[in-house]
Amino acid sequence: MTAGLEPKTFTWDSPAPELAFSQTRPTEMNREELRAWLTALGEPAFRGDQLFDGLHRHRFSAWNQFTNLSQALRTKLAATAELSWPEITESVPSEDGSTKHAFRLSDGKQIEGVHMPYGKRTTLCLSSQVGCAMGCTFCATGLMGIVRNLSAGEIVGQVMAMLNAHPHPASTPVNLVFMGMGEPLHNLDNVMKAFNILTDAGGLGLSPRRITVSTSGLVSGIQRLATYPKRPRLALSLNATTDDYRSRIMPVNRVWNLAALAEVLRRFPLEKNERITLEYVLLQGVTDSLEDGRRLASFAQAFPSKINLIPFNPHEGSGFEPPTEARINQLCGLLSKAGLIVSVRRSRGQDVAGACGQLVREARGTKRP
Ligand code: SAH
Ligand code: SF4
Repeated sequence: MTAGLEPKTFTWDSPAPELAFSQTRPTEMNREELRAWLTALGEPAFRGDQLFDGLHRHRFSAWNQFTNLSQALRTKLAATAELSWPEITESVPSEDGSTKHAFRLSDGKQIEGVHMPYGKRTTLCLSSQVGCAMGCTFCATGLMGIVRNLSAGEIVGQVMAMLNAHPHPASTPVNLVFMGMGEPLHNLDNVMKAFNILTDAGGLGLSPRRITVSTSGLVSGIQRLATYPKRPRLALSLNATTDDYRSRIMPVNRVWNLAALAEVLRRFPLEKNERITLEYVLLQGVTDSLEDGRRLASFAQAFPSKINLIPFNPHEGSGFEPPTEARINQLCGLLSKAGLIVSVRRSRGQDVAGACGQLVREARGTKRP
């Protein structure tokens, strides 16, 4: 097993470790923090806005690019603060047009993100943690265990690096999905800070409606998410329709079962036209029976929802198989006949180890413990 990726003893019910920064990091600050920092340095607060503008609207990554600040101020800032975004170390394009990127973080840890162009819009799949504490048995990231939370700047930095690597017109709508490595609701503070930076109209100005966090079902996190006046959209990885099977493949179900999930989703305060996405990974012979389809339909009918069926993306040592095409079609038909919105999501970039956690695991040669 490679250093840094050993499964750790942390679990979902204790906070994941955070990265400690040795220097001031403007890339970790929101607009208010940048203003406060510049004020503390004896500058007018609006210089903080100029810094935000340079970092998030112009996507500057070196002090000498900040020509909106005086040379003297740039020198002063450079002496006390470090400017660094996660760095792309490997990019693997797939035949379907998507590109999987591996990022190196400042402590040498690795994460991954995927750039997926769909016609006029672009979707970026982001990581929220290094590894994951949730331990889902079908998931390559789950097999790593948790290493640490990503900081807000590391989350924002994935977006910056992928947009820089794939230039497109400013008018292109950008969707973000937290469906890479990690459980975003286990790192909600940093995810929400990144969300606020990314949606700041003076920066990238992304639409909150185009940002989705996907959770394995941390009910406490879903309840907290519901309390934010401005928040991303919610997706739940349901993945099984009986407590017996869900608890076997997703340990979190032993804490919050299907009834608890149904309850919290029914109460989740939705905006007009908002729907909760239900992701359902199809594991052959485990979660893909027609009875599963019927139970999935009745679960989904209890609140405004849409369903993404995701055929399992095989990886070494998982012990699971993807469903047959015939079964995918049967389930799709069954769900749409029940009046539900359903789509089949093939993991993009399957030919390049597309599903979450797989590129980093392969790069590090990590095997299932
Ligand atoms: N931790 C969050 C988000 C990251 S996982 C969550 O679990 O929702 C993103 C999605 O990938 C989840 O729906 C998960 O069930 C799915 N997934 C994980 N491994 C997979 C695999 N090998 N094949 C297909 N989907 C997978
Ligand atoms: Fe973590 Fe999501 Fe993978 Fe489960 S499916 S181990 S929650 S990343």
